[in-house]
Amino acid sequence: MVSNNSINAQSIVEGLAQVQRPLLISGPCSAESEEQVVQTANDLSKRGVHILRAGVWKPRTRPNGFEGMGTIALRWLVNARESSGLPIATEVANAQHVEACLNAGVDVMWIGARTTVSPFAVQEIADALKGTNVPVFVKNPMHADLSLWLGALERVRNTTDGPVWAIHRGFSQYGQKEYRNAPMWEIAIGLKMALPDVPIICDPSHIAGNRALLQAVAQKAMDLGMEGLMLETHPNPQDALSDSNQQLTPAAFGELIDSLTIRSSSEPKISSADLSALRLQMDSIDEQVIELLHARMGLARQIGLHKWENGMTILQMERWKEVFDTREKWAERGGLSPEFIFNFLEQVHKESIRVQNEEMNSKKIKPANS
Ligand code: PEP
Ligand code: MN
Repeated sequence: MVSNNSINAQSIVEGLAQVQRPLLISGPCSAESEEQVVQTANDLSKRGVHILRAGVWKPRTRPNGFEGMGTIALRWLVNARESSGLPIATEVANAQHVEACLNAGVDVMWIGARTTVSPFAVQEIADALKGTNVPVFVKNPMHADLSLWLGALERVRNTTDGPVWAIHRGFSQYGQKEYRNAPMWEIAIGLKMALPDVPIICDPSHIAGNRALLQAVAQKAMDLGMEGLMLETHPNPQDALSDSNQQLTPAAFGELIDSLTIRSSSEPKISSADLSALRLQMDSIDEQVIELLHARMGLARQIGLHKWENGMTILQMERWKEVFDTREKWAERGGLSPEFIFNFLEQVHKESIRVQNEEMNSKKIKPANS
């Protein structure tokens, strides 16, 4: 299924528009030595990769981590391009990085998650790119803020003439969790709805944080119709100086890509008449859900009135616990995930409290027994 890597460094801008989905970007988290970068590039060029990636300046969360080899590594990337024919990409975090990349002739630049959070830093990068047509990929910010991601894309689009793409790499979360960064797919979908012309690439490496989860994340991204994948690869992942748990050998990368099912977003699996019928049913169910929620809020108002008359507080913890416990059981019986029902009820409860508050505040005189 791997599409042929028809992009070359000269036609990168046109090439991005022509490439068959998924666009594949791969290479080491960090450029560690010339040999490592060149060897990875040569191995990847045989596996359908379109763009070679390697971090040169590494924004580490804590000091004393490996901070990248710096400007000298740009030469290694250029040599890897010469040897493999793959266009080269690296991360930029300030104007000096952009300047160094422009001087070295780097084909593609990306803005990392720790930089996207800062409008000042993004604007500095956008200004340094002014008037160029270098393709730029903008990773989502570290935390779940769609506006910040949109803002960064807009800043770059305002100054450059080249293609600007988004990279979904997940959102940081506190504590030990299944994913290194929570995917929160709904935020990537929100981005697509706000900027439908901006293609989105998924970065399963930074979402998963470990090799075992990469395939499932990549498949999910493809099922959602994302335009490409960025996956970290290293000749000896266990010895990598950064992100060693999530990197694949180029051979394992090839196997992962071959295992993916790529459905075309326009290729219908069911006839359009069947699809319309299913959508009609869904519309009708949504209408009923909304009517039921309306009725539920009406009851919340009546309860609010009762609480006001009896001088009770709005939040009754015992009752709230009972609501969760019973609904969780009902959800399990119906095959719905308890997590989904918990999140749903939390929103419903929030709205119930707002409605009850409104009801109480609309009463000017306090009840006699409060
Ligand atoms: C990277 O791509 O190696 C990187 C540092 O990614 P992120 O900005 O997503 O953490
Ligand atoms: Mn990395």
